[in-house]
Amino acid sequence: MGKAMIIGCGGVASVAIHKCCQNSDVFTELCLASRTKAKCDALRDKLAGQTKTKISTAQVDANNVEELTRLIEAEQPDVVLNLALPYQDLSIMEACLAARVPYVDTANYEPEDTARFEYKWQWAYRERFEQAGITALLGSGFDPGVTGVFSAYALKHHFDEINYIDILDCNAGDHGYPFATNFNPEINIREVSANGSYWENGQWVETAPMEIKRVYNFPEVGEKDMYLLHHEELESLALNMPGIKRIRFFMTFGQSYLTHLKCLENVGMTSIQPIEFEGKQIVPLQFLKAVLPDPASLGPRTKGKTNIGCIFTGKKDGQLKHYYLYNVCDHEKCYQEVGSQAVAYTTGVPAMIGAMLVMQGVWQKPGVYNIEEFDPDPFMDALNRWGLPWQESFTPELVD
Ligand code: NDP
Repeated sequence: MGKAMIIGCGGVASVAIHKCCQNSDVFTELCLASRTKAKCDALRDKLAGQTKTKISTAQVDANNVEELTRLIEAEQPDVVLNLALPYQDLSIMEACLAARVPYVDTANYEPEDTARFEYKWQWAYRERFEQAGITALLGSGFDPGVTGVFSAYALKHHFDEINYIDILDCNAGDHGYPFATNFNPEINIREVSANGSYWENGQWVETAPMEIKRVYNFPEVGEKDMYLLHHEELESLALNMPGIKRIRFFMTFGQSYLTHLKCLENVGMTSIQPIEFEGKQIVPLQFLKAVLPDPASLGPRTKGKTNIGCIFTGKKDGQLKHYYLYNVCDHEKCYQEVGSQAVAYTTGVPAMIGAMLVMQGVWQKPGVYNIEEFDPDPFMDALNRWGLPWQESFTPELVD
């Protein structure tokens, strides 16, 4: 059917690449392009003989638009799947525009020197993608990603109007380390040490980091502490869900993680302001990343499950209605299947599905769009088929 170029070869990319190779009727060819080509070569060699997908590899600095454009033009993929870091989003979008190839990512742009993520930089590309006649699909991971698809599906099939959404992200996995992050530590710590916020009655309400705590009894996982965070899909869902009054995002954290994080913050290790060390400028958070366990190494040690989903409250035929859509994923099963833990798995599978739907033209809309702006049904079917089956409840426990 077609060829995808995957940029980045870390934890999430590794899962997406395995899933594309399982789906070799659609992904007949892959080009793996990343900063460290050796990682792409190692994955290509591991997958050789297990898949019909033809894999090539390349070294690229995705911050360099000209270099990347040349590579895309030479490889001629049908879609570019950006699984590098949020810092590279704009340069990869520029290269896709220059080479006229559709673009898919899983995380919105964040400038490297300010820990602030917003869609405005990527939404500013809307007209240029429209005029070029190519689709950019933003946020095709789990959250953002599946949470937006769940929202579009709930609105399409179960509600006339959705007024409240609570997104609950629970990782009950245990990797045995006192402190480690499940995806890129720098991006993860920037996210969780920022102020929290939620959308209510047309405006943002800001909270101190981890100020709002709730306890929730997650299906198949049990009771966990969860904390309100700002999260990127709040921004697009607030615009794209008609009638919305409040959207909140909660993530579970264990006490050991929080105590370590507080201590690291207190001593200045999570700062992104460069400091002088032995005659060299270093960023404390980047140094911390270098000493923490690589998320990709957690796979063989992590036991337990994730449960990520959305609770919707709204109206159907004039009646108040609640609806909970969620996925439960088992760390050990993910590791057996693709050699990664569930956090990478739950992001890599939707990334493959988004790239597939764009490449097949099932989702085709010239311009720059968030995932909830597409028809959710083919994505929901693909989740069941490709390893992230969803479950639903019409009588969920609610979050106060
Ligand atoms: P990793 O750090 O494991 O992987 C990032 C990869 O990008 C590495 O292979 C790295 O290369 C490569 N890279 C970095 N800079 C460049 C560059 N300038 N040019 C080319 N390649 C580059 O990150 P993860 O796999 O954990 O995360 C990947 C993305 O997924 C992130 O954007 C993250 O925010 C997003 N994410 C989204 C989630 C969701 O649910 N929506 C959940 C989790 C993550 P090298 O190997 O040389 O370091």
